[in-house]
Amino acid sequence: MANKVENKSLSFNHVGLLDQIISPTNKLVYEKLTELGCCKLCALRFCGETAMNPYKILYDTKTSQAGEGINESKKVAGNPCVACLGMLQPPTCDRIIEEIANAMTKEEYDNPTFNVAFTLPVSFYLRAHSLLVFVANNFPDYFKTNHPVGVVTVGVKEAWKYVFAHKLAKRINKTFHNDASLKTQVDI
Ligand SMILES: [Zn+2]
Repeated sequence: MANKVENKSLSFNHVGLLDQIISPTNKLVYEKLTELGCCKLCALRFCGETAMNPYKILYDTKTSQAGEGINESKKVAGNPCVACLGMLQPPTCDRIIEEIANAMTKEEYDNPTFNVAFTLPVSFYLRAHSLLVFVANNFPDYFKTNHPVGVVTVGVKEAWKYVFAHKLAKRINKTFHNDASLKTQVDI
């Protein structure tokens, strides 16, 4: 049976920053997704958020404020997100930045701008599909409104760029640009 989003009392006990990012209607879906094992950025993706700023703000919000605190303790320590397999979570996200930064610094490119192209395993797409089906089955009205074309608009690659591209840019002293001729290929 479909959950009634409107009538649920929410277990989020924080106010402030996160409330500006996630609307009350989104919160239940967000919470269900983190219970399933999604990291906070993936939960936001499957809530249908498309703007960049909420991702950046959410990532910089302390974990305990982002609804993951309780769920994290239920999970086996170090369990990666079921959707991105840790690509959007510490420590893997930091490791990816380090690896790209090291590779680019070593090559001493003088291009002022750069771009990153990720190749993801097929399993990422299968996982995304399963989570989307979960949202569609459990929150059908929400799904119709927030995923009007029936796909996740912000994929793992886009979410990575939203949150981590500028961190990498600072690290290598270049500007991230989607049209940059210097493109680093990263196979996950
Ligand atoms: Zn994730």
